[in-house]
Amino acid sequence: MKIIEKFKAGKTLFAFELLPPLKGDTINTLYNTIDTLREYDPSYINVTYHREEVKFIEREGGLMEKRIVRKRPGTVGISAAIQARYGIDVVPHLICGGFSVLDTEDALIEMNFLGIDNVLALRGDNIRGENTFRPVEGGHLHASNLVRQIQDMNHGRYVSGEVEHPTPTDFCIGVAGYPEKHSESPNMTMDISHLKEKVDAGADYIVTQMFFDNDKFYDFVDKCRAAGINVPIIPGLKPFSTKTQLNVLPQVFGTDIPQDLAMAVEKARDNAQVREIGIEWCKEQCRSLISHGVPAIHFYTMSRADNIAAVVRDVF
Ligand code: FAD
Repeated sequence: MKIIEKFKAGKTLFAFELLPPLKGDTINTLYNTIDTLREYDPSYINVTYHREEVKFIEREGGLMEKRIVRKRPGTVGISAAIQARYGIDVVPHLICGGFSVLDTEDALIEMNFLGIDNVLALRGDNIRGENTFRPVEGGHLHASNLVRQIQDMNHGRYVSGEVEHPTPTDFCIGVAGYPEKHSESPNMTMDISHLKEKVDAGADYIVTQMFFDNDKFYDFVDKCRAAGINVPIIPGLKPFSTKTQLNVLPQVFGTDIPQDLAMAVEKARDNAQVREIGIEWCKEQCRSLISHGVPAIHFYTMSRADNIAAVVRDVF
């Protein structure tokens, strides 16, 4: 079922995001996470996509060998496996990085055959160690181009000219939004105008980057509406869980940590106490978001379910 249809339920839905297991691990850890969260009736589950990374390995004589590694393969297969095992709708992420438009077309054909109705269309991050995002030859530079390609397929327009029977697909398309601005954007106004490009290209809804200050989200929604973006905007949340996140989250996700939360985390005895603080903070965020009538809350699990379960148990 399409995610946008679910948003018509008239109540705030619970959804969460999983990472595929590291290469070589079994799928069972992922199933354990779902088993823990299933009793809270998740409406849908997102599965992230991880592009290849460049790794340098030292050889004899000090020579460095460049290797391309993909640490977490299997997004489409895992999504289909979850949907078949649990009957819960899935949203595989699809990124521009590492994909030519033909690779993208093949991935979408595969998802369509597997009965997947939803996709989150993203550009993806730079390859680690590179300053700017570089698409592969024949790949997309921005997520808006990817949205356009998916919408083209939804209208029976395939990239490969030789398609004899171009059956239209019917994907529901989500895109990413940034309540605190994307790190590469010069300012919020420009970032929102690029977000509008994605919506104008055919995105059905927006999921946000994580934030810890709800006012930033409400302000972002107001700015989007003022810019003519009228699709549902789903807040993304993550309960704070370790002291190191005080530095890591602002660095990696550009997320501001409110002073009250930062001070409480700093004063905490250990990470067990940080987890408790994170759970309570996240519950308060959820209660306010639900009272504002958001269509769903998207939780970033980072593949750990216990703190999400503690939040969801009390607020949904
Ligand atoms: P875009 O929308 O292309 O925007 C990227 C930057 O380019 C922005 O600064 C934007 O303002 C700018 N821009 C856009 N269009 C134009 C234009 N026409 N001209 C000039 N500038 C432009 N990453 C992964 O690798 N895998 C995942 O599974 C994944 N899941 C995510 C899920 C969510 C909910 C979110 C919020 C992020 C996720 N990411 C994931 C991270 C995301 O890929 C990065 O934040 C990436 O740097 C930007 O992706 P985007 O889709 O927002 O890109």
